[in-house]
Amino acid sequence: MINKLVIGTNNPDKVIEIREMLKETNFEIKTLKDLNVSIEVEEDRDTLEGNAIKKAEEMWAVVNFPCTADDTGLFVDALDGAPGVYAARYAGEDVTYEDNRKKLLKELDGIPEEKRSAFFRTVVCYYYGKDKYELFDGICKGRILTNERGEKGFGYDAVFLPDGSDRTFAELSTEEKNLISHRAKAFNKFKEYLLSKQSS
Ligand code: IMP
Repeated sequence: MINKLVIGTNNPDKVIEIREMLKETNFEIKTLKDLNVSIEVEEDRDTLEGNAIKKAEEMWAVVNFPCTADDTGLFVDALDGAPGVYAARYAGEDVTYEDNRKKLLKELDGIPEEKRSAFFRTVVCYYYGKDKYELFDGICKGRILTNERGEKGFGYDAVFLPDGSDRTFAELSTEEKNLISHRAKAFNKFKEYLLSKQSS
């Protein structure tokens, strides 16, 4: 039996990435756009879990199919975990990715390389019935550089050097980033969960 799964993002790069990751499951993957549904959910919770659950629950209430929503934060040790859950709005409301990167580099000005450790964390919420959900998370550790490097990716990719790599996220291809990224790790856990359910 084919089940439908609605993924709560309209970011085309994330859609490609998630479809690829879930291709071994028997879910028919749909986006909100495929269903002609437009939902704006305010990410106003102070945890990634809170935002992911809120987004997935509101989507489920509209589409009535199993849904996923994900929320990601960037946690910088020298800044006591900032920007954290507020990564998208670090430099203010209606800002660009570049504004956020600039603010981050400014906040870290003068901090030496060894004290610039940071990690991305993604939480995926799979919501499949009233108050029925599962959470999966993924972390990618690294550090924040002093200058931007690379043209690919989005968000903070150009200033984030993942541990074990000599290239920033913005210098990696999508396939390379997907082997180590926080989002890929969270979705892989979700995929394993779906596969275990399908075989039981
Ligand atoms: P979201 O919850 O996935 O929308 O992520 C919130 C913010 O974190 C985004 O606006 C980006 O600035 C940043 N972000 C999320 N994922 C990544 C990533 O993989 N690389 C770089 N920045 C990211």
